[in-house]
Amino acid sequence: MTTTTLPSRLTFGDAELREITDTRRDLHAHPELAFEEVRTAQVVAERLRALGLEVRTGVGKTGVLATVKGGKPGPTVLLRADMDALPIQEENETPYRSQTPGKMHACGHDCHTAVLLGIAKRLVKESATLPGAVRLVFQPAEEVGGGADAMIRDGALADPRPAAAFGLHVWQTLDLGKIGITPGPFMAAVDEFTITIEGKGAHAAMPHLGADPVVCLAHVVTALQTIASRSVDPLVEVVVSVTQVRAGTAFNIIPESAWLNGTVRVFDPETWRALPTRFETIVQGVSQALGCRAIVDYRRHNRPTVNDPAMSAIARAAAVEVVGEKNVVSDLRTMGGEDFSAFLNQIPGCFIAVGSRNAAKGLTWDHHHPRFDVDEACLGVGAEVLLRTAKRVLESGA
Ligand SMILES: [Zn+2]
Ligand SMILES: [Zn+2]
Repeated sequence: MTTTTLPSRLTFGDAELREITDTRRDLHAHPELAFEEVRTAQVVAERLRALGLEVRTGVGKTGVLATVKGGKPGPTVLLRADMDALPIQEENETPYRSQTPGKMHACGHDCHTAVLLGIAKRLVKESATLPGAVRLVFQPAEEVGGGADAMIRDGALADPRPAAAFGLHVWQTLDLGKIGITPGPFMAAVDEFTITIEGKGAHAAMPHLGADPVVCLAHVVTALQTIASRSVDPLVEVVVSVTQVRAGTAFNIIPESAWLNGTVRVFDPETWRALPTRFETIVQGVSQALGCRAIVDYRRHNRPTVNDPAMSAIARAAAVEVVGEKNVVSDLRTMGGEDFSAFLNQIPGCFIAVGSRNAAKGLTWDHHHPRFDVDEACLGVGAEVLLRTAKRVLESGA
């Protein structure tokens, strides 16, 4: 059992927190999948327009953009929330559970959108004294990837180009009241590979007359593990997981071909860049040695999420103000991926983890689980940290 001390240093008042929570519950009850966030985008656009902001919709298909301009000159800071849900049937019994069969906000993107709307309202209220501007990015399609890139292609980083970018994610392995800010590599790159091995079919009793793609596949699977164990510096983390294999039709037939698919995860940008070549060399070498031909399809989904050290220090200072020094964790890392990396690839910034777990309330289910839910007190903590981070960057003149 963990005891959670809630931070008392919130500038968000009860009414503001209630509004953020209500928004989160409304979005939670109406989940929409990647690039289908029509209702969600409409809610976001209406709220922003009600604040008097100029709103751009249909950015990167279903994304929404708005900028809060401060009364004083200064840099532009980008704040991003993702809006998409997952194809999961919710098993929670809460009053705000998903009203759409087979769809659920099981990652917490409803929380991120609600938090950013809460921040938008506050920023507009304080805009006269704001030195610079805050670009609000409500992004589609984080889960399948491509939403961030789509918005960037549609001008999310233009006119003026933001000097810094920040986002947050509710975090179920972190207790409520804690904040994770990891300078440097934080989340892994996500690559996907698909390999077709073409051999030569034969009778299973006469393998010498064919070229067995199944044996070849087995050697390829084993050889690929040498990427982690032999090719890459042992101090650099890398995971190669073959997750699907398919081949064959009967016990006495050597098939013509075999198929496998899986993922590679790595933090280190240098290693990430070198991976496809090493991968191809291993697959082609093994296949050739066993008389087969391999066709490799190697795709990048997400870049590594790498937090800029200087921006992380600013976010950390903000987090310390909110939750206290001992509640800011700096060594959180995961092999999971995140397409906020698309922003961080172009602009220095930091992706912040907001503790949302509360064992005392049974809120311990992990992201993407049908019973995932957060302790909603994390919404205020996240909003406060993100708002203070943005203001610190503006005030520093970055
Ligand atoms: Zn997710
Ligand atoms: Zn997520």
